[in-house]
Amino acid sequence: MTRPAVPGQEHAVPAACPTFSIVVPLYNEEEVIEQFHARLVPVMERLGAAWEVIYVNDGSRDRSLAILERLRAADPRIGIVNLSRNFGKEIALTAGLDHARGEAVVVTDVDLQDPPEVIPELVAGWREGYDVVFAQRRVREGETIVKRKTAELFYQLMQHLGGRVRIPPNTGDFRLMSRRSVDALLQLREHHRFMKGLFAWIGFPSKAVLYDRAPRAAGTTKWNYWKLWNLALEGITSFTVMPLKIATYLGLAVSVFALGFGGVIVVRTLVFGNPVPGYPSVMAVMLFLGGVQLMTLGVIGEYLGRVFNEVKGRPLYLVERFVPPEPMAAKREP
Ligand code: UDP
Ligand code: MG
Repeated sequence: MTRPAVPGQEHAVPAACPTFSIVVPLYNEEEVIEQFHARLVPVMERLGAAWEVIYVNDGSRDRSLAILERLRAADPRIGIVNLSRNFGKEIALTAGLDHARGEAVVVTDVDLQDPPEVIPELVAGWREGYDVVFAQRRVREGETIVKRKTAELFYQLMQHLGGRVRIPPNTGDFRLMSRRSVDALLQLREHHRFMKGLFAWIGFPSKAVLYDRAPRAAGTTKWNYWKLWNLALEGITSFTVMPLKIATYLGLAVSVFALGFGGVIVVRTLVFGNPVPGYPSVMAVMLFLGGVQLMTLGVIGEYLGRVFNEVKGRPLYLVERFVPPEPMAAKREP
């Protein structure tokens, strides 16, 4: 079976597709790339089918690209997508999926937090007939209690807001997807890519495989609490307009209260006269309403900003260079 050539590669001879593609986004990961590849190879070889691994260099500033090129020289099953700059993990991941040709595609991080040894279990699920086999964390090791609690809270919130789309808790991007579910996912070209949500949105028969997420093998996480907060905002604003509704109802509630309170004041003034008290209460109400108005404007702004980013219609990413993996099944004859 052949797939249409990837953008920029239209001239390339259509190659036979491998059974498995591994997609790995990476950003400044010089310490772990080789270690990751060394652990991936034996696992994939044991599966006994043609495979390729697509490393997406997301604008690393360290030696990551040089290391990838050196690995590529020794192992032609490696494909390298070198993005023109850092686009962020979600987009790097999408770039990798765009270039993967496998019948089943596994998405994983390079830092060995997602152990490659779990891949055969994911494959087993796929062979049972599931389209999506996602790895679900049994425990969250090497993470602070604060991070664990906030993550828990976030999943609960999304559960309430998500409506029909159910986001499985404690599940990252580490998963296997069938060709048709990858193609479905790739139809979602939005710029604000909340991957957990997009993965959930496509649906298809899915199965969870429990695993122990290890602490990072080396290097440091690029996440901090500010980024996580923004990720949570991204999740909420790209999946529900609930905050806009809350703003509406808050406004309505305040107006109803103000009407009632206004009535009370009028009656009181008529009955008891007007001794002009009430500077504190006027001040309190004014500040409260000012705050609510600004916050509501902020909520609208969050959505407006996202609309702005989407309507520009820019490409999701730009590829500086694509080194395709060598066709595996069709061996070239001299
Ligand atoms: N990553 C990326 N682009 C970025 C940030 C991260 O491609 O801008 C990659 C990173 O190299 C790693 C994966 O995304 O392979 C997950 O990143 P990280 O380990 O920092 O996140 P965590 O595991 O802590 O959620
Ligand atoms: Mg990590």
